[in-house]
Amino acid sequence: MISSRALATNAFRYCPSSTGCAQRFNFRTIRPAHSACQPINRLFSTSVRFGATTPKAMSSAAAQMHAVIELPNLTVQRVPCLSDNYVWVLHESGSGKTAVVDPSEAAPVIAALDQRGLKADYILNTHHHFDHTGGNLEVKQCYGASIVGPAADKDRIPGIDISLKDGDTWEFGQLQMRVFDTPGHTRGHITLYFPQAEALFPGDTLFALGCGRLFEGTPQQMWASLSKLTPLPGNTKVFCAHEYTQSNAKFAVAIDKDNKKLQERKRMIDEQRSQGMATVPSLLSDELDTNPFLRPHDSGIRAALGVAPDAPDVEAFAAIRKAKDNY
Ligand SMILES: [Zn+2]
Repeated sequence: MISSRALATNAFRYCPSSTGCAQRFNFRTIRPAHSACQPINRLFSTSVRFGATTPKAMSSAAAQMHAVIELPNLTVQRVPCLSDNYVWVLHESGSGKTAVVDPSEAAPVIAALDQRGLKADYILNTHHHFDHTGGNLEVKQCYGASIVGPAADKDRIPGIDISLKDGDTWEFGQLQMRVFDTPGHTRGHITLYFPQAEALFPGDTLFALGCGRLFEGTPQQMWASLSKLTPLPGNTKVFCAHEYTQSNAKFAVAIDKDNKKLQERKRMIDEQRSQGMATVPSLLSDELDTNPFLRPHDSGIRAALGVAPDAPDVEAFAAIRKAKDNY
């Protein structure tokens, strides 16, 4: 466990004699080493649970950034990694199982797990990019976790044990996880959906107010992928993998000028970001109302981009993606 002050000031140190799993220390009590991680003792200070209670020593923004979000049957903790990635730590209280979604890097993820006394049973990967799989092998080695990822890209997922494809259902403790193949950003991308928890993990397919760049796919593929997600319940929480929301909002208002809900959402996002707060997860219903990539049917967006009123949605979607790439 770690003190709020240490977390707020990012005061972790990593042991130079580390044997591969991130040995770290700050300056108070000693607990035994994690059994799966072998040698040295780790040093910890007092425990704190983020979320409902904001520790006094931590700014409210820092507490919000590292919050544990309570959903039906599931808690989800946001772990900021690299420059703008979010790794999500899932804990299913019924079975006690824990999973890590898209570990960009190992050290912050191991720190977050240890703060709460959790061990990773699974690593869930949405796609092969290094900022989603960079921590795979170290987290796997540290906890003996099994790695779950897209069957279509199993050769590019480091350490993969379980391959899943479109339509598969996988048991995470007492929860069902449904899998959608969502190619476009990469050819083997999957999106993970937990209907009982009303939670969606779309990786780099769907962002708050945006969608992923088309590195390995076509607009047709990406539009078909997004169209699998839009029918889900509006109350679904969208846990995307990057904090891109503010720049996405700037682009969105430029092509959807008359959208009052979008303008209001942008004001909130600018306020949150000015305080260093996270804007993810978002609600799917808000994305449907304000995310231009889910609104290719909108006459105002079409007019702004010179797309004919009777053109197919995929044509307008391609124009929106192209405009964003050049924005
Ligand atoms: Zn990616």
